Amino acid sequence: MLKDEDRIFKNLYGKESWELAGARKRGDWEGTDTLIAKGRETIIEEMIASGLRGRGGAGFSTGRKWSFMPKPGKFPHYLVINADESEPGTCKDRDILRFEPHKLIEGALIAGFAINAHTGYIYIRGEFYKEAQHLQAAIDEAYKARLLGKNAAKSGWDFDLYVHRGAGAYICGEETAQLSSLEGGKGLPRLKPPFPAISGLYGCPTIINNVESIAVVPTILRRGPAWFAGLGVKDSAGTKIFCISGHVNTPCNVEEELGIPLRTLIDTHAGGVRGGWDNLLAVIPGGSSVPLLPKEICESVTMDFAALSAVKSGLGTAAVIVMDKSTDVVRAIARLSRFYMHESCGQCTPCREGTGWMWRLLTRIIEGKATLADIDKLEDISYQIEGRTICALGDAAAWPVQGLLRHFRPLLVERIRKAA
Ligand code: SF4
Repeated sequence: MLKDEDRIFKNLYGKESWELAGARKRGDWEGTDTLIAKGRETIIEEMIASGLRGRGGAGFSTGRKWSFMPKPGKFPHYLVINADESEPGTCKDRDILRFEPHKLIEGALIAGFAINAHTGYIYIRGEFYKEAQHLQAAIDEAYKARLLGKNAAKSGWDFDLYVHRGAGAYICGEETAQLSSLEGGKGLPRLKPPFPAISGLYGCPTIINNVESIAVVPTILRRGPAWFAGLGVKDSAGTKIFCISGHVNTPCNVEEELGIPLRTLIDTHAGGVRGGWDNLLAVIPGGSSVPLLPKEICESVTMDFAALSAVKSGLGTAAVIVMDKSTDVVRAIARLSRFYMHESCGQCTPCREGTGWMWRLLTRIIEGKATLADIDKLEDISYQIEGRTICALGDAAAWPVQGLLRHFRPLLVERIRKAA
């Protein structure tokens, strides 16, 4: 369990002021110039040593990502912060934007310096209207206090930060689609390589990081990489904001150490499963795109990258969606399938066609019109999508269906037989 003194987000519940004065009281913007004075190489080395892995879902080492940035050349470098947070079940960045915006802004300045970027963009989803207002107000405060702009925070580094509001497309959370959207085009993912660190925004070297990944940077550098690496478990260092929703007594966002047992997380912070632990049916542990886990696995699994991947699921965005026994699990996954079908940009045939097929087959099962052969067809289609598309939305659509088939196939068979 995380000790209070190790909590990074001290105002996650908005009990104190989110404005500059309140943020300063919590230690934000304290000695930012001395952090930057460590120099680019040291900052990147410390970020690698801290073991911080991207908090947006992919889980790639943040420091290593920064180290891929080429040396300064004739093109400008850019920092893009992904605040599109559209993964169903996920609502952690939203609270950072509302209640801890200065952590993000300070982190943006340090990250901008580390990757040689004088300009940063925060791409925020359109529906986050009030969050964008808070963020803009906090950026205005930072400019007024000379924490942004020329010689930002007396660091000797010039850094400008802009908020860009999206229009609500899930696919714009995919990094290359986000760049296309920022440039004013349709939010269509691009083929990789080239990766954004080589050719990103306007064809220039660009680093794209999630809100939470950037917001924790100042605290890691202040308290030292060893402190962060000492929290959590092997290969899953530090703390993480978990979003616990669904059939629990007190849904919440909570910062905890990675590696905490799923059951402890739910019982301690979310008031337990509605109707008690024995009433649990399944949990989606990392946002809607990762495969669900049945109760037997939830008993003992821990919330870290390795443990969740060992049970064929994933940490994703750490959005824990709890389903009790009142849930029609087929209907729940069909609803997710419909979401991914709707959000597919349509560029890749397996995703464009396959997401619709999966949704129609699941609907057929729900309506009692399916045959047993439809279960195999559903599975086959999911594997025809996985790994055969240019962005991760295809996998995100296939995995929930695969999770359903892996753990609830007998239920599907029984349902089809009964209807027949
Ligand atoms: Fe578009 Fe789907 Fe292909 Fe991604 S996987 S580029 S969303 S069609």
